[in-house]
Amino acid sequence: MINLLDIHIANLIAAGEVVDRPSSALKEIVENSIDANADIITIEIKGGGISYIRVTDNGDGMTAEDLGRAILRHATSKIKDEKDLEKITTLGFRGEALAAISSVSDIKIFTKIKDAQNGYMLESSSGQNIKISEAGCANGTTVVIERLFSKIPARQKFLKRDITEGMYCKWITEKIALSNPNVSFKFIQDNKQKIFTPGNGNYKDTVYSVFGDETAENLIPVGDFDEKIGDEENIKVYGFVSRIENGQKTRVNENFFVNGRYVYSKTIMTAIEEAYKSISETRTFPICALYVKVDESKVDINVHPQKMEIKFSDEKQVYSAIYYAVKETLGSFFEPDANFASKEKADKKEKQNISYRNQGSEKKERQSENVSETRPLRENSENGISEKTYFYEKQNYKILGEAFFGYILIEKDEKIIIIDKHAAHERIIYDIIIKNAVKNKNSNFKSQLLFVPEELELTPKEAAGILEIEDEIKNLGIIFEWKNDNTLSITEVPSEIGDASAGAIIKEAAYLSSEGISPGQTVFEKLAQISAKKSAACRAAMKSGISDSSENIAWLVEKVLNYENVRYCPHGRPVAFEITKSDIEKQFKR
Ligand code: ADP
Ligand code: MG
Repeated sequence: MINLLDIHIANLIAAGEVVDRPSSALKEIVENSIDANADIITIEIKGGGISYIRVTDNGDGMTAEDLGRAILRHATSKIKDEKDLEKITTLGFRGEALAAISSVSDIKIFTKIKDAQNGYMLESSSGQNIKISEAGCANGTTVVIERLFSKIPARQKFLKRDITEGMYCKWITEKIALSNPNVSFKFIQDNKQKIFTPGNGNYKDTVYSVFGDETAENLIPVGDFDEKIGDEENIKVYGFVSRIENGQKTRVNENFFVNGRYVYSKTIMTAIEEAYKSISETRTFPICALYVKVDESKVDINVHPQKMEIKFSDEKQVYSAIYYAVKETLGSFFEPDANFASKEKADKKEKQNISYRNQGSEKKERQSENVSETRPLRENSENGISEKTYFYEKQNYKILGEAFFGYILIEKDEKIIIIDKHAAHERIIYDIIIKNAVKNKNSNFKSQLLFVPEELELTPKEAAGILEIEDEIKNLGIIFEWKNDNTLSITEVPSEIGDASAGAIIKEAAYLSSEGISPGQTVFEKLAQISAKKSAACRAAMKSGISDSSENIAWLVEKVLNYENVRYCPHGRPVAFEITKSDIEKQFKR
C-alpha cells in the first residue's frame, strides 16, 4: 500500500537532509539573514547549539503574512516560477530550511519590517501549534531555536558532545564571515564572544578578525582583489595564504570561496596544495582564505546541499588559475633553496603541458586517487565486448564483477580469480599500512581530510597509552587533535583505510601501549606481531565500510594482484583462489 506522507512527516524527512546538526541549522538561519540584506548579524549559541541558537539580524524583516508562511514547506520568497530558478543569487531558495528546522525544535521568530509600527512573533513547538502574535521588536529578524532534536532520538544519537557541536558552529560562522566581508558578525558561545568582524567590506580586516592577528600576520596576499590574475580568462583568484613555513598539520584552516560562497572543492584544494609542494617539499597544509570568481554558469553548486561541494564545468582551467596564482605569490615571498632551481625547471615544462592532477609524476599523490593506477587503457572492442574494461598497465586483467556482495571475479591470463573482498582488504590494511609503517617510519602516507572529523572517546588508560605513541600514529598518516583529555578528533586518515578503521587501529594501539611494551619494540611492531592472532585488522576491515564502488574494487584488485604478500588474510585464510580455463573446459567436457 502506498501512503501519502502527511506534512509533518515530510518535514521530518527533509530535516534529515537539510539539518543534521546544530551547525547546519545555524548555517541556514544565518544565510537567511544575509539573503534578507542584513549587515549586522549576531549569533549566540549555548550547549553547542543543541539547547539554544539565536540569530539576530537587521535585515528586511517579514510582514505578519510572510511570517506565517515562512515555516511552511516550500515557502520561499525567492522563487515564484520556473524562470526564477535560472537566476538565483540568494543562498537559500528551496524554502525548506525553516520548515525542516522548526519541525525538529522549538522555534521563535521575532520580526519587523522597517517603517512598520509593530513587529510580530511566531512560536511553534516541533512545527505544531503555530502561534503568531504582535510583539514589540527592532527592525529585522531574530530566530531562536531551542532543544534541537530533543524529540528525535534517532538524530540525537548522531550528535557529538556539546564542545564539538559548538566547534562546528564556530567553524561554519567563520566560513560565512569570511565570505561576507560586508556583514559584521558577532559569535557568542556560552556567554563568551568568540568572533567579531567589522563588516567594513575589507577582506584583509575580515581575515584578520577571523584568524586572529597572530596568525593573520603571517598570511600573504594573493592577487590584489580587483586585478585579474593567473593565466586564465574569466577566473579571478585572490585572498590570503600562509607562508610556506607557517603551514599546519591539518586542513581545518583551508577556506575556499567561490562567488562569495564557502565551498568544498577537491580541485581548489589540490591546486593550492600542489602550489605549495612545487616550492617546497612540505607536508603541512596552508592556512588560507582563497576567493575564486568564475562565471556563475560554469559552476554547479547543487551537488550536495550540506557539503557545499562545488563542481566546475572546466575543472582544469580552475585548477591552473589557482595553481599559478598561489605559486607566483609564494615564490615571491620564499627564499629559494638549492632544490628550487631544478624544481622551477620542471615546473616550466609542466606549464607547457599542464594536466590536471599531474598525471604520472607524484607517486605519493596516487595513493589518494585509488583509481589512477588502474585506469582504462583501451576499449576491448577487438574481442567483441563493447563496454569499457579495465586493464592494468603491466599485467592485463579484467574485472568481471562482484558476486554475492563480497567476491570479486577477475579474468587474468587463462584463469578466473575469485577474491574475497573482506579478507583482501583486511590483509591490505594489515600489510601495507601497518607493516610498512613499522619498516619505514618515515613513509609518507598521503592523508585525506575527513569532511567531518571523527571523534574517538578513550578511556583514561587508552588516552595515556596514546600520549606515548602519538608520533607513531601520525607516521601512519592518521592525523588527530586532542579535544580534551579523553577525546580525539581524527581529521585525516590515509586513503587506504576508512575512518572507522583509523579509530579501531588507534584503539588497538592505545591498548597495547597502555599495557606497556618491551623495550626496543614499537607499538606498531607489536601490533603487527599479534595481529595475525588478534582481530585488529579484521575488525578494522569489516568496519571500514569500503563501499562497493568500482574504483574501490579496482583499487583492491590492483593491490591483490600486484603485492606478493596479499595472499592470505592475517588469520591465514586465503584471500583469493583461481579456476583455470582448462578446469572450466573440463566441466563442459570439451
Ligand atoms: P529559503 O531560504 O530557501 O527561501 P527558508 O525556509 O530558509 O527558505 O526561509 C523561508 C522564507 O522565510 C524565506 O524565503 C524568507 O522570505 C523568509 N525568511 C527567513 N528568514 C528570514 C530573515 N532572517 N529575514 C527575512 N526573511 C526571512
Ligand atoms: Mg533559507
